[in-house]
Amino acid sequence: MTKKNRMPFSAFTIEEKKTAQGTTPHTSVGNSPVSRQTKHRTGDRKKTAKSSTYQYSKFGKGRSRGSSAYSPKTQYKNPNEKVIPPPEEGVIRIIPLGGVEEIGKNMTAIEIGDDIIVIDAGMHFSTEETPGVDYVIPNTTYLEERKDKIRALIITHGHLDHIGGVPLVLSRIGNPPVYSRNLSILMMRKRQAEFPQLPAMKENIVEKDSVITCGKIKIRFFGVTHTIPDSMGIIIETKNGWIVTPGDYKLDQVDGIVSEAEEKEYSIFDKAKVLLLLTDSTNIENEGFSLPEEKVYRGLENLLRKIQGRVIIAAFASHITRLAHIVKFAESMGKKIVLDGRSMKTNIEVAIEAKLFEPKKGTIIPIEEANDYPPNKVVILMTGAQGEEFASLNRAANKTHTKFALHKGDTIILSASIVPGNELQVQKMKDGLTRQGVRIISFRTSGEDFVHATGHGNQEDIKWLHRKTHPKFFIPIHGWHSMLVRHKELAMELGQSEDKIIVPDNGSIIEISPDGEKMILRKEKAPSGAMMVDGVSISDTQDVVIKDRMMLAQDGMFVIIALVDQKTGKLKKSPDLISRGFVYLKENQELLRQVRIIIKKSVEDATTRMPMPLNQNGNMADFDHIKASLGESVSKFLYQKTAKRPLVIPVVLGV
Ligand SMILES: [Zn+2]
Ligand SMILES: [Zn+2]
Repeated sequence: MTKKNRMPFSAFTIEEKKTAQGTTPHTSVGNSPVSRQTKHRTGDRKKTAKSSTYQYSKFGKGRSRGSSAYSPKTQYKNPNEKVIPPPEEGVIRIIPLGGVEEIGKNMTAIEIGDDIIVIDAGMHFSTEETPGVDYVIPNTTYLEERKDKIRALIITHGHLDHIGGVPLVLSRIGNPPVYSRNLSILMMRKRQAEFPQLPAMKENIVEKDSVITCGKIKIRFFGVTHTIPDSMGIIIETKNGWIVTPGDYKLDQVDGIVSEAEEKEYSIFDKAKVLLLLTDSTNIENEGFSLPEEKVYRGLENLLRKIQGRVIIAAFASHITRLAHIVKFAESMGKKIVLDGRSMKTNIEVAIEAKLFEPKKGTIIPIEEANDYPPNKVVILMTGAQGEEFASLNRAANKTHTKFALHKGDTIILSASIVPGNELQVQKMKDGLTRQGVRIISFRTSGEDFVHATGHGNQEDIKWLHRKTHPKFFIPIHGWHSMLVRHKELAMELGQSEDKIIVPDNGSIIEISPDGEKMILRKEKAPSGAMMVDGVSISDTQDVVIKDRMMLAQDGMFVIIALVDQKTGKLKKSPDLISRGFVYLKENQELLRQVRIIIKKSVEDATTRMPMPLNQNGNMADFDHIKASLGESVSKFLYQKTAKRPLVIPVVLGV
């Protein structure tokens, strides 16, 4: 993960200076951890600024926006802590903690008696809703408060939306043992290695026919088809039947005929009593069966045979099954393979380590040697099919790739769909590629030769799974709310009654009665605010920080530094004004002149009714009042003059 160079808003502060009399002038800068420490150090201040930023709102006032500083002790405080009682004797509690109001950061907890089993611990990357954040993981507060009951973290497969949060989640929930199949454990090891400060993961490799006991709960597994090998479903045995979740899956089928191996894998459900099914809704809106990966193999093979020049394949590094197939096939045609992009190299490395395939020595060559072979003897596998800014293919498109240049006559296969939201950046990348005279074959334009297939089951795959598992109760998971509701409708079309289905939100607490006859949604909720990993901090209460970032991006900021004479309550000199991302000060002298008048008036109006000298006995209240009055009048004035709503930060110093 690349570290960004940035100065967080909350780091803004004013150095304290000692005055000649040995007293400290007031620096009233809220939102600043430093000013808070100052309070503790001097000890004589009873009050600190409650807030320090102001923004004009439609309610007609510059409004105080609350402090974004938080105490590490209280940031995970859960108001429901005492309100959520433990499950009653015999009750099964199911808590989807992530992945049900979104695609990504999947995590579900199952609680029976004294035992909690956690399934998956994913992440998703920052979106426009979380600017500047590195990534987001599920909220673990409910689990942190019940650490001693957690018996296992079980991982269905090695994709980041299932394992990306593992290191940080483990460290917060008491580092319970982790269970998964071989490749998933290897992927997690790589991920864990990025956090050398955390305790080692207690890894346990299971196979799809393993049976384990965690606390009093017996757990078994089954193999599923997905885009990464070693994907597995999980079966939790209860006295009322099985709780089943397949993780991410599609069916191994061609034209709706499910393969024998797949039928055999799922035959364990034929005679089983399935109490509850929790399953993926990602592709619920896609009709028919999912496109079989076999058809993509044939398509890519045809293209590799037909294309004369050099071939560059951009794919999701997570589609390890396909990547392995491409490497094997290209090798069989006597071609050399170049891997470019960190995740591409890492994932192929892991696949080789897991013995999924063994390329001959010399098949995989460094990118620097790509030009030593005739163009039709080289296949380059790259990251960046989504047009990601720093990924290999985009750098090639921008000619900023230091080790690789495109040639006229190259063919680029985009072996991926465009993730919603990435359309514009993919388009720009395609333009950059086209300008270099290369040919692009993408998912959309492929006629007979398929170059990509989804890894998730479509409607018909999903129906097949419901019929096969014939569950008594059903909870749709993995998807946006509208997808979960669509999934519920599909289950009802298949004959399930509405009272046997619950569509959850993140943090919903669902319970199945001791007799296994009723499933209810409790009124309490587990904390579900996304935990943002931002540099070294993890927090679920950073909304103010995030909102500030959005505001700064929209309208910029405006800082006022006013020196107030404590004896007279008047401005000591003309205030300093700093503007960033708001207006260019040099070209707005008239606006600044007027702002200075407003500031003078606002400060002096605020201090006229105060006893002089100001701020005796270290009382901060006077300065808070001046600041509030400044913030409100200036933010309102700036809005009236510019129709912009910058964050206004008044800094009032008493001298
Ligand atoms: Zn997956
Ligand atoms: Zn997934």
